[in-house]
Amino acid sequence: MLKPKHKKLIIFICLIFFIILVPSHGYPDSAVPTVRVKVFDDISTLHIEGKDIQLIDTYKNLYLFRNPGISYIIVSAAKNGIMVNKALFPARMVTLIFSGGMVRINGKSLRGHLEIVNIDNKHLIVVNEINLESYVAGLVNAEMPHNWPIEALKAQAVVARTYALWQKEKHLDQYFDMDTGFMDQVYLGADAEDNKGWEAVNATRGQIITYGGKPILAMYHSSCGGETENSEDAIGYKYPYLRAVKCNFCRIAPNFNWKYALRFKALADRLIVKGYNLSGVYGFEILKRSRTQRVMTARVITNRGNIDLDGVTLRGVIGYDKLRSTLFWAQVKDNEIFFHGRGFGHGVGMCQWGAYGMAKKGYNYRQIIHYYYQHVDIERMY
Ligand SMILES: [Zn+2]
Repeated sequence: MLKPKHKKLIIFICLIFFIILVPSHGYPDSAVPTVRVKVFDDISTLHIEGKDIQLIDTYKNLYLFRNPGISYIIVSAAKNGIMVNKALFPARMVTLIFSGGMVRINGKSLRGHLEIVNIDNKHLIVVNEINLESYVAGLVNAEMPHNWPIEALKAQAVVARTYALWQKEKHLDQYFDMDTGFMDQVYLGADAEDNKGWEAVNATRGQIITYGGKPILAMYHSSCGGETENSEDAIGYKYPYLRAVKCNFCRIAPNFNWKYALRFKALADRLIVKGYNLSGVYGFEILKRSRTQRVMTARVITNRGNIDLDGVTLRGVIGYDKLRSTLFWAQVKDNEIFFHGRGFGHGVGMCQWGAYGMAKKGYNYRQIIHYYYQHVDIERMY
């Protein structure tokens, strides 16, 4: 039998271990890598609310501004400097320091290390360096509804973590690793973190998808419409793990089937806005399809000759939310193009609605990942 004094000591030691070992939300952990996320792009004015706000010249490591207590400051870009509440500081890049763990910039809650960069004397960008696990938690909820099955959210967490690390390697010489927008991943800030996101993140902590021991380019999209795409047909580069697979799991997706009608006149206007030289459109035809039937080349017949566009460029001209994928067919009738298509997004890698469908059928996140990415391993990095 242990003496009561020893018992108390053991309970105390266990408690200390428990406190140390249980991961706490959002706090830095030296083993976890950080990512630099561009949270505001080309913005002229920042409204910053926080506690004990300080601004430091990042390059010279000099204090520029201190404001103890709760404060609200306005920061804007100026010629060769940064304007803070109408005072000019000759710095290109400033680091924002605050207490209380969180600050609000233009209504968005942010944590971690923040840098403000004057990019062209008129506009600022804001870069948020945060630990990868916090980033993934915010992202999981921005990318997938929180009421989706946990195995789908776990798959999204591993995929998002992997994609972030791949991006980080690619952007070593730039101010940031990740955009927050459409082409990178959607990061809404700390407001988007919730318990379900953290549950998916903590259950897969440090896990990434690798090929040959390196993080893969873990592309993903909303829904594939029945079959995913080979990477070389979508982005021009063949990755051995981004191969087309049949997907019968995303039939429930809202854009599994979609329609869109566009008049020739409207297509002409959109082409002119994008800088093409024409004044009228007279015809439209599809010239080439990929092995999965996605449009590789489409021809627009105009008064200035033919314009051949690849499917992705055409989506950019018409609008990514209008021409929702390149898996479409088109009929021309009375100066109008009637598109009907399947799926939403580029079609490469994981189909998010497919992950939802697989999780509903009882597959776990590992099975989901191995279904959409071939010959890969799931490894724990930290
Ligand atoms: Zn699918």
